[in-house]
Amino acid sequence: MFQKKKSVVIVVVMIGLLVGSGLGTVGSFSPTKSGDLKWFEQIQVYDMLALPPNDVRRYYVTVNGLWNGFYSPENISSPFAFGRYLESLYSGQTYSSDEDFVSVQHEQGLLCPGTVLTTQGHRSLQGDLVEQYACRSAEGELAQWDFEGGVFMCSNNPGWIEWVIEQGKKIIDADGDLIVLDEIQGNGFVVWFQWLSQYLGLRESGFCQYCIGGFREYLSEKYSPSELLELFGIDDIDSYDLTSRIAETMSLKYTERVAADPLIEDYVSFQEWDNYEAKVHVIEELRSYAASEGKECVVCANSFALGTPRTGDFWVKGLQFSEALDFFCFENEYGAESDVLLPRFPRNKWVAWEKLAAAATNSNPVVLLKAGAMQSIWENPFFLLGKVNNYLAVHCAEAYAVGGSFANWYVKPLDRWWKWMGCARIYRFVLEHRELYEVESVVDSSVGVVYLYGEGMRENSDSYLGLGQLLSESNIPYEVVFDGDGIFLEETLTLDMLNGFEVVIVPNVVDITSAQEMVLNEYVQGGGIAIVNDPEELGLDPVEGEQSYGDGVFYVMLEDKGWEYYHSYNDVYRQEVVEVVDSYVERMITIENSNRKVVAYPYYQPEEERVVVHLVNYDHHFLFDFMRPKFSVKIKMQKPVFDVSSVSVVSPDFPNSRELEFVVEGDVVSFTVPLLRVYDVVIVE
Ligand SMILES: [Zn+2]
Repeated sequence: MFQKKKSVVIVVVMIGLLVGSGLGTVGSFSPTKSGDLKWFEQIQVYDMLALPPNDVRRYYVTVNGLWNGFYSPENISSPFAFGRYLESLYSGQTYSSDEDFVSVQHEQGLLCPGTVLTTQGHRSLQGDLVEQYACRSAEGELAQWDFEGGVFMCSNNPGWIEWVIEQGKKIIDADGDLIVLDEIQGNGFVVWFQWLSQYLGLRESGFCQYCIGGFREYLSEKYSPSELLELFGIDDIDSYDLTSRIAETMSLKYTERVAADPLIEDYVSFQEWDNYEAKVHVIEELRSYAASEGKECVVCANSFALGTPRTGDFWVKGLQFSEALDFFCFENEYGAESDVLLPRFPRNKWVAWEKLAAAATNSNPVVLLKAGAMQSIWENPFFLLGKVNNYLAVHCAEAYAVGGSFANWYVKPLDRWWKWMGCARIYRFVLEHRELYEVESVVDSSVGVVYLYGEGMRENSDSYLGLGQLLSESNIPYEVVFDGDGIFLEETLTLDMLNGFEVVIVPNVVDITSAQEMVLNEYVQGGGIAIVNDPEELGLDPVEGEQSYGDGVFYVMLEDKGWEYYHSYNDVYRQEVVEVVDSYVERMITIENSNRKVVAYPYYQPEEERVVVHLVNYDHHFLFDFMRPKFSVKIKMQKPVFDVSSVSVVSPDFPNSRELEFVVEGDVVSFTVPLLRVYDVVIVE
């Protein structure tokens, strides 16, 4: 949901006319399209709105405008309209068409995305078609998306889906490099919006003829007339007043609502499923159109925090689209502190989301601040002093350390350019050192975290988020093994996927499929160790600690320490989990006095015979935006399979590569990194 951004940006445009651009520039980098990697698997620097050449150079942008689409007041409606408008305003270039705009970006060596709003509608975008495609409230009025004229378009309406496809085709026709689908969750938002409507005063969605008619059909197909009568008290499905029935419980939270009326669970499934099918259909149509035109089609989607937030117990799912997408380009928030727009470090780590997005799509994610946080940076007078430079740099370093990227959200001129200079240093660094990132890199850890997507994650995704965070903070590298639910996403879990790990931690075993349960059992039977909560789900005794199973062990934690840690950040939970993990596996890497503030992200790169360790410092002072630098960071790591001949460090925070002294004793390599400000990369070869 980029919905909050619009109003701010309009102000920016107005002021921009008066202030103009004209700031210093630095060298530029062009994306390469060579090698085996697709462009989005290579190191890229994304910005949110297309920038003119001097800013592109300042921030080393390679992909110009994740959110180039839609700009309301000008009555322009193309997937490039907004980026094109802003870029043109500052560059002085005029463009006769989207194709022209994209081609000028290409001439500068830039990739150029187009954006399609898949749920939000506006009169300036769709004209009178708004009436036709908008969903309706229970009273039959146009359903609202926001208070700025945004309308909630209905993904059950085939006409709307056709419109979305046509917008996507415009991107392909103009030779755009990436299709960004915003608000892909579509009618998955409906029940949550219905509940929110009482607080926000927004007119709810979910009652148009396509919603009600579609639901009627869904019920008729799923249940016999007698079942409908018995289960839901529906006597004649053809004439039954479904609208009043659904509207009756709208003010309740999800759990209370499905308890009050069992029909609601079906209504939610219907909305979710139809939206899922509609959006997958959009992507398939666009891919086949691109193929018929002999063009590449790369699709990413914004799915807020990967669908992990659960406000009002509502679960607006996001990961269900991962098979259909090339990657996620998503706004994130640290959900346990969702009331804080800019949560503090060291707690505010995004590593768990980033690793999950990568595991779900098998591709590098692009993460960005949520629109509200971005807006607060614009509006907060304190931040007008520029004190957010390092804050953003820490996010940026983390994203690249985890294999993703952090989008630059500089918009001229309200958002002062220097706020993004911490990121700019990192952007420059990663592009100059792309050979460290663009080779096969394995986490090579004996610890796996198994994320089994499905209904159980409704309650347990926070367990994953807490476990992922505490492992990272303890410098226990881990891989995320992702598997689908067999409904939205394919089930592909095999014993081979687990056998490489000595220990797997499974944040959720509730409602997993029988095939998944079987693989887990086989893994343990063969000697593996699985740490789980909810033992009854696996037929285990509800007793804390080890339970032998075949040659292996199930370790039962009755308390959900991952969930507790995520919600409290109480270090006791972290230590308790780590104690269990440490009792089974040796540490790959240790950092003296890391205190949850220094995190190592090590990768083994077999082709290069080297280990690359990304170090991120999260010791950031929020009020003054300064980093507490770490001097003499003492690191011990397991000796790699090759003979170590050199250890060196490169960093955006100091100019030249430095050779480090190192000692190999038995299986351990020790060295000391002299300085860690925000981000260092150590190369052991
Ligand atoms: Zn509708």
